[in-house]
Amino acid sequence: MAGALAPRSCLPKEFVMLRRSALRGVLGMLAAVLAALGTQTVTPGVAAADVSVAARTVYYDASRAGEFATNFHQAAQIWNSSVRNVRLQAGSPASVTIYVDSGWPRAQVTGLGAGRVWMGWQAVNQGYDRTRIATHELGHILGLPDRRTGLCSDLMSGSSAPVSCRNAYPNAAEAARVDALFAGTAAASRAVTAVAGGYTWSGAR
Ligand SMILES: [Zn+2]
Repeated sequence: MAGALAPRSCLPKEFVMLRRSALRGVLGMLAAVLAALGTQTVTPGVAAADVSVAARTVYYDASRAGEFATNFHQAAQIWNSSVRNVRLQAGSPASVTIYVDSGWPRAQVTGLGAGRVWMGWQAVNQGYDRTRIATHELGHILGLPDRRTGLCSDLMSGSSAPVSCRNAYPNAAEAARVDALFAGTAAASRAVTAVAGGYTWSGAR
């Protein structure tokens, strides 16, 4: 018994040290392997992650939008599918609040990705497309001014397009403009200052 214990009591320090260094070695290898694995698994995702990191999230509050909330959720989805540098998401803290009243739809823009939007019954009653209005007004929040071209293919033509216009998608130039603004270039930042203000669906200020 004692003979059996003696070698064991002789061993411990070296043995423990050996085990420690072996453990360190194993841990080191494990860390290296994990790092390698991590690098490998993360690398393909970096491109996608970079996009989402670069994209700014603009939170909106449609809880006061009543029956039009769905139109604004749809409008947010349309913008999210059209641009890559900004994401519109329902949530808080919201920099965009959506209201409803009996007037013309309008947007009060306080900054890029910030302001207030009113869904106005006046345009809805005249037959203008609800989702087009919602997407258009969010377009102001995203930095686009009105461009009354009369073309249905232009989202920011607003009420200058025929009442029958159902297009709720920004055209390529409009989407590119929003992406440029949210890319945060100096020129785009200067342009944002000019964007702040009030926009009314009817064109009246
Ligand atoms: Zn407008």
